[in-house]
Amino acid sequence: MTGAGGAAADLKGARVTVAGLGVSGVPAAKALHELGARVTVVNGIAGDKQRAEAAELDALGIAVRLGDAAAGLPDGTDLVVTTPGWKPTSPLFAAAAQAGLEVWGDVELAWRLRGPDAAPWLAVTGTNGKTTTTRMLASILEAEGLRTAAVGNIGVSLFDVVLGTREYDVLAVELSSYQLHWAPSPRPHSAVVLNLAPDHLDWHGSMAAYAADKGRVYNGNKVACVYNTADPETERLVREADVEEGCRAVGFTLDAPRVSELGVVDGVLVDRAFVADRQRSAQELAETSDIDPPAPHNIANALAAAALARAYGVGPAAVRDGLRAFRPDAHRIAEVAVLDGVRYVDDSKATNTHAAEASLAAYESVVWLAGGLAKGAAFDDLVRRAAPRLRGVVLFGADRALVREALARHAPQVPVVDLERTDTGAMAAAVAAARELASPGDTVLLAPACASMDMFTNYNVRGDMFADAVRALGSADTADTGDGR
Ligand code: ADP
Repeated sequence: MTGAGGAAADLKGARVTVAGLGVSGVPAAKALHELGARVTVVNGIAGDKQRAEAAELDALGIAVRLGDAAAGLPDGTDLVVTTPGWKPTSPLFAAAAQAGLEVWGDVELAWRLRGPDAAPWLAVTGTNGKTTTTRMLASILEAEGLRTAAVGNIGVSLFDVVLGTREYDVLAVELSSYQLHWAPSPRPHSAVVLNLAPDHLDWHGSMAAYAADKGRVYNGNKVACVYNTADPETERLVREADVEEGCRAVGFTLDAPRVSELGVVDGVLVDRAFVADRQRSAQELAETSDIDPPAPHNIANALAAAALARAYGVGPAAVRDGLRAFRPDAHRIAEVAVLDGVRYVDDSKATNTHAAEASLAAYESVVWLAGGLAKGAAFDDLVRRAAPRLRGVVLFGADRALVREALARHAPQVPVVDLERTDTGAMAAAVAAARELASPGDTVLLAPACASMDMFTNYNVRGDMFADAVRALGSADTADTGDGR
């Protein structure tokens, strides 16, 4: 297969094996089919969902092998295109390597299919904050009047953008570490690694491999490699990146910015990187109160989005307007209700310890709901740092003992309710227990630091059940008042 531009022509008639169905595999298979490739999709799991997707593809004339039939590399394969879920250690990839074949992820494929005048990418990766930052960035670009979209893991599919007829000036692209692993070619205009903390190590094999995959986002950057001054590892990745001549390293910080940084001074977001005389002057961009929610980690996300927009030449007013217009997605520090002076916050999306730590740091006095699938994480650092803020903890889910043991070591004075039940009423029981532990002024925070799949379909369902339970408490109170008590 040849490089950018030539890929679409090369794919005509090529025998392409797509590894995996789902949100990434199905659009990839369709795109390849439309380009004239002879596509076979393989997927080891053969549940109802997969059968339905297979039927949809079959109707288009795309071959699908499910279950045991999916084992091994189909004979005659010219190219493998993989979805992000497949581990690099999967036998299929060993077979592809053996046969001297390239393996492309969905992002690699999309990059190769871009036309010569395609919109440049402003790329966002990191352990946490990707979706929020990418959407903030798109909001800022829109405020500048640019034709743009938030793409990648979110919003519009990359294939729709690359192959569609709609024209874009610039794209805000969210990239996961899985996608970057299988995408050696993309060369974004500018990019950011927001932060790096251990996550998905079972997939990548080691922290070094995970960091190296994230660092790929800086490859070939033209204007700015944006890094987090509070996370030296992100700066190291910039130093190691192979960028275009003249590309600058630009930091973001929650403190006053030094030269070539964006930062915060007296509640104002300030740019000392993209100004004419950065030794002596700075440009005010927005106020922290323009950001929803104004939690420290979210201000960091806003600074990163602003840095990428400024690298693209966006003016300060659009940064402010875009941030003001931005509203966070559900389950990301979403305030559900205030009952008896206690605030209830749903941050179900805090599925790892790094995210939960940021979330806990945003509140002074917290009753914390935590637990689920730990994915190999350790909780000591998180619990040690959060200990002074904890008024109580309610634990649930498969790996709750790991959190409980860390609490016993670093916060033995904090009351803990350990919920054994995992039935559909478990979240309501957790919320009721949290209410007992909370006093006026406290925040009851669902920031589980764990994945949800042991008890819930996904983090959305977990957050919805939390919100439902909180609202049920609220309406029970109203009903009680109605009884004249
Ligand atoms: P991602 O797309 O990387 O999963 P999101 O923007 O969806 O990130 O945010 C996921 C969770 O990560 C949030 O609910 C919050 O708990 C946490 N979070 C968001 N931004 C940051 C950040 N900059 N640093 C640490 N944690 C963050």
